[in-house]
Amino acid sequence: MKITLLGTGTSTGVPSIGCDCETCTSDDPRDKRLRVSVLVEHEGHTILVDTSADFRQQALRVGLRRLDAVLITHCHADHIFGLDDIRPLNFRHGALGVYANERAWKDIRRIFQYVFEPTYFGGGLPQVVAHTVVNGAPFCLAPGLEVTPLEVIHGRLPVVAYRFNDFAYATDLSEIPPATLEGLRGLDTFVIDCLRLTAHPTHLNLERALAYIEELRPRRTYLTHIAHDIKHARDSKLLPRGVEFGYDGLEIEC
Ligand SMILES: [Zn+2]
Ligand SMILES: [Zn+2]
Ligand SMILES: [Zn+2]
Repeated sequence: MKITLLGTGTSTGVPSIGCDCETCTSDDPRDKRLRVSVLVEHEGHTILVDTSADFRQQALRVGLRRLDAVLITHCHADHIFGLDDIRPLNFRHGALGVYANERAWKDIRRIFQYVFEPTYFGGGLPQVVAHTVVNGAPFCLAPGLEVTPLEVIHGRLPVVAYRFNDFAYATDLSEIPPATLEGLRGLDTFVIDCLRLTAHPTHLNLERALAYIEELRPRRTYLTHIAHDIKHARDSKLLPRGVEFGYDGLEIEC
């Protein structure tokens, strides 16, 4: 399996508009973070997690040719506002399966009403085949690739983390319920939310992310959804062995 971190930034992206801080003015490419998204490739199948607000740019950057499925974690703008940009893939390959939980579908159908209740005909609308995922119920997206949706809590909002065999992606969370903790054991590679150093009501900060990593003991972990409070080179010194800040374009074999 190959994992590509397409975006590792918080909802504003980094640099943040109008900010002159040390991270936003950094020359280090690892301090330039688009909105979070990850690409999973397995046995010729390509799966995208979240159509981020920067999806078009991310797809062009990695030379994306096709997608076999899109999984949605939750319906916040930074994670879904690129949905319309699946159209060039629809034009070439037809409709695309999109997977989200019931709550996210309610919001996606409202926000993208023109897609699901079209009143405009003749133009190129996104072609979506809707699938509803259920917490803890695994499904297969490619031969030998089992995907398990696992609920995590983002402030008060239940959000979907996804486990793909021995890799798991858990962004936008402030708490991992006990049943999900059990579902995240025995991981080879883990990508988890780490917004900043200081506490936050709807995201993990570094201390809380490290506490979950300590409890789950994946072989290696990459932190994501990173705000400008964290500067890659400067703050990497704070991380224990086996834990790194993710950065845009990072490719991981697992
Ligand atoms: Zn987010
Ligand atoms: Zn800044
Ligand atoms: Zn969110």
